[in-house]
Amino acid sequence: MIKAFVIGHPIKHSRSPLIHGHWLQTYGIAGSYVAIDVAPEALEAHFGRIRAGEFAGGNVTVPLKEGAFRLCDALDPLAQRIGASNTLVRRPDGTIIGQNTDFMGFLGNLDQSAPGWDDTLSEVIVLGAGGAARAIVIALEERKAGVIHVLNRTREKAEALTALSPKVIAGTLDQFGRLAPTARLMVNTTTIGMHGTRFDDLPMSLLPKHCTVTDIVYTPLETPLLAEARALGLPSVDGLGMLLHQAVPGFEAWFGTRPAVTLELRALIEGTL
Ligand code: NAP
Repeated sequence: MIKAFVIGHPIKHSRSPLIHGHWLQTYGIAGSYVAIDVAPEALEAHFGRIRAGEFAGGNVTVPLKEGAFRLCDALDPLAQRIGASNTLVRRPDGTIIGQNTDFMGFLGNLDQSAPGWDDTLSEVIVLGAGGAARAIVIALEERKAGVIHVLNRTREKAEALTALSPKVIAGTLDQFGRLAPTARLMVNTTTIGMHGTRFDDLPMSLLPKHCTVTDIVYTPLETPLLAEARALGLPSVDGLGMLLHQAVPGFEAWFGTRPAVTLELRALIEGTL
């Protein structure tokens, strides 16, 4: 039986076992996908279990992403470029390749939820400059974004993203009001919004009516930022779809079937939020 996992510390909160469990059942695959609590000091031993053939691979979450990135035997070009890996795949020779699926998750979510979102991406505002922002900047570049303003609380971290793409212009959150009137897409990649937290001063009303707003935070499903976008009549997309779409490539690599992100799956996970 093919086995896969999600590892983190803690890991109880993860929805990944539900997502992959749903697909295993839907496609009648005799596999398993389990959540395993792995402390950072036990990560190397877990890699040993993968190399030995116990698992086909799995997902990696906080706080193990950086350690896993270092322990991989190889990285696919995207993970290498982003500088982070959240998906591990065991190759037939027992070596482990690291992939980054946030890129596909972000694009898959917007493509499905807001078709045409990338028709004109002359100016984009990305709030935050962490690991997820890195994948999103590269995804936006792939979709021919003109200028990508990365605004972050800590300016130096935003500046680090200029090395990823010549389209990136780094700044701080207080520049939002000046940039908002010409933005075509706004993406929140900070942790603000989790559990209802909100930005102190973000004049969303300055965004033009055609600007799509998306938040990658999905707890709660409608963050204060998305609620404000909706009240202003702006097209908006929540972050749950990104979580579902980022799971697709891993499942396909481990179990050999490309799964679909359906309304049924979304409703299943939504019911747990
Ligand atoms: P990360 O690497 O830790 O980055 C966190 C970002 O949030 C940094 O830019 C940080 O700014 C900013 N931030 C934190 N607290 C802040 C505050 N009080 N005010 C302003 N900015 C603040 O995290 P990540 O991996 O990029 O993930 C970011 C969020 O996206 C998390 O909530 C995560 O759960 C979510 N996520 C969702 C998906 C999905 O599938 N939907 C995928 C990946 C991540 P500084 O640099 O100044 O610290």
